[in-house]
Amino acid sequence: MKVIFGVDIGGTNIKIGRFTPDGELLEKWSVKTDLSDCGKKIIPQVAGCISENMAENNLCEEDMEGIGMGIPGPVDKNGYVKKCANLNWNDFNPVEELKKFFPDCRVRAGNDANVASLGEYFRGAGKGSSSMMMVTLGTGVGGGVIIGGKIIIGAHGIAGEIGHISVTDAEEDCNCGNRGCIDQWASATGIVREAGRLLEADDKPSMLRQAEKLTSKDVCSFAKQGDNLAVECINRCMYPLGKGLAYFSHAFDPEVYVIGGGVSLAGEIIVDAVRRGYEDNLYLIRKGADIRLAELGNDAGIIGACALASGE
Ligand SMILES: [Zn+2]
Repeated sequence: MKVIFGVDIGGTNIKIGRFTPDGELLEKWSVKTDLSDCGKKIIPQVAGCISENMAENNLCEEDMEGIGMGIPGPVDKNGYVKKCANLNWNDFNPVEELKKFFPDCRVRAGNDANVASLGEYFRGAGKGSSSMMMVTLGTGVGGGVIIGGKIIIGAHGIAGEIGHISVTDAEEDCNCGNRGCIDQWASATGIVREAGRLLEADDKPSMLRQAEKLTSKDVCSFAKQGDNLAVECINRCMYPLGKGLAYFSHAFDPEVYVIGGGVSLAGEIIVDAVRRGYEDNLYLIRKGADIRLAELGNDAGIIGACALASGE
């Protein structure tokens, strides 16, 4: 039986999935990332996990159709990584390195946000669309653009890196040096900051006041429970993202936007706020792209890595 391995390498854990060539997930597991020795042990660790799993399932190298990897940093089309701070990598090619262990196997790598987008495109919320942009709301805001089943890396590797597009006036500088970036609003950090501002502005009652150290998770869960201030915070933070998406539609007009990442767990309330910002800033057409929540959660990375390895 032929198999494909999808690997999602993070700074804390490595997630691995074994798939059929059609992308059906057979088994998944994770191990703690070995960051020692400047990250040089990571690829041997991945190879070891795969070999072990193959042996357990009586598979030999001929059964292996491909291995795809998601890497938490920029990756060029040949798999080369100039710098990946989370894995301590500098001037490193994980594809060439893994091929030393599996010389006859197809090995591919991509940026983890892009790879997760590919997962959503083939198996999740973007399924059936011709073009999609995924926005990942975490500590920061990232994204991936998929057109015709291919990740768009861009000529300089920043395609989809939407967090640092400026969409509003803002008083504070963003850590990138610009002001009013999408990241300053729609990221977990942005949400906590805005909640703090709203709490300071007046003394209206809110569940947010009970939290000892406010997190974006609190804001999202209180918003879901209907707390007025939390809802206002989500609206204020997601509207600028929607405005940004309207800009992107004028550039490449995707069929679907998929919203993922930890913050998206707040659900439809996020999508509604993003949609308002989107539609308010779209003048040439009335409705535009569908905006949907991601469906694959934490598995998007391994599923996308499998898709990366199976594509020609
Ligand atoms: Zn910025």
